[in-house]
Amino acid sequence: MMRVAVFSTKPYDRTFLDAAAEGTGHELHYFEARLTADTAGLARGHDAACIFVNDEADADALRTLKEGGTTLVACRCAGFNQVDVPVAKGLGITVVRVPAYSPHAVAEYAVGLMLALNRHVPRAYNRVREGNFMLDGLMGFDMFGKTAGVVGTGKIGGLVAKILRGFGCEILAHDAYVNPDCTALGAGYVGLDELLSRSDVVSLHCPLTPETRHLINARALGLMKPGAMLINTSRGDVIDTGAVVEALKSGRLGSLGIDVYEEEERYFFEDFSSRVIEDDVLARLLTFPNVLVTGHQAFFTREAIGNIAQTVVDSFTNYEKGLPLPNKVEPPA
Ligand code: NAD
Repeated sequence: MMRVAVFSTKPYDRTFLDAAAEGTGHELHYFEARLTADTAGLARGHDAACIFVNDEADADALRTLKEGGTTLVACRCAGFNQVDVPVAKGLGITVVRVPAYSPHAVAEYAVGLMLALNRHVPRAYNRVREGNFMLDGLMGFDMFGKTAGVVGTGKIGGLVAKILRGFGCEILAHDAYVNPDCTALGAGYVGLDELLSRSDVVSLHCPLTPETRHLINARALGLMKPGAMLINTSRGDVIDTGAVVEALKSGRLGSLGIDVYEEEERYFFEDFSSRVIEDDVLARLLTFPNVLVTGHQAFFTREAIGNIAQTVVDSFTNYEKGLPLPNKVEPPA
């Protein structure tokens, strides 16, 4: 039996994790708090801490977890940039994640953002509800025949390329590793600069690493086709948001669809509808007619949440029994 402290719990986490844990004997204790150095003490006496994208398993939090007897950190997500993996390893804390739960969920959502932004669906929805059936300002472009640049052609990026190829887009890809599924679609692998300068739509699907932090900065934006669309469903920090705001103000960047934001920890997954948003960059982004922001929901399908819960619970069981952990995260070599 594993005692597990679940951080950043939402009602749906509890429903799906309880269902997956039924009959396993594991004891799951749910906390609404985000894991940070200040809240890590809540896990005292638990074998494992189960965390999500905006928890902060930094060195201080990990040390407190270890002091409290926690030796497993299980991310119920694919990204693990929120964990200081080398420090965890040094402390003897094992880190696992859920590398693939439904790449379809994220890929389909990325294309959904693209279409909604291109064809102004949110604006049309609001307009029609007010009885305004004018089309001014709602003109989009055919996806057919356009060039789509996919940055990071792993599981999600590979599927995005496939969906967009189905629309009749030309696909340009950028990744150190060639995905044969993408080349089979006729995607051409090119350097980042060439991808940016040739693409009408750029969609980001690389993980957040020191190399990809601010990959899309002022220089990269300057290389993009004037009026191009930028989509980010990877991690907020892959984009230098300040530079993107400038590119939107100047009209250089045509439109922006983001499901992730650099400073999202403060706001995403919370209700701020009766409070003041103090983040001026986020507030500014919300004012553009050609920007669509959603609160990190690309993963949020029944299939994905079910798979995440099952994979995490399997990791608890394997860890307890000393079985191999296929989803273990190792520090970079
Ligand atoms: P993956 O590991 O299958 O693919 C990532 C690809 O990015 C790999 O092929 C890798 O070689 C490539 N890459 C690494 N550095 C790069 C760089 N500098 N330039 C170009 N490519 C680079 O991962 P995945 O399952 O496809 O997920 C991709 C990312 O999507 C995750 O790391 C995560 O941050 C994000 N994600 C977001 C959500 C959401 O709800 N918004 C959900 C799941 C995953």
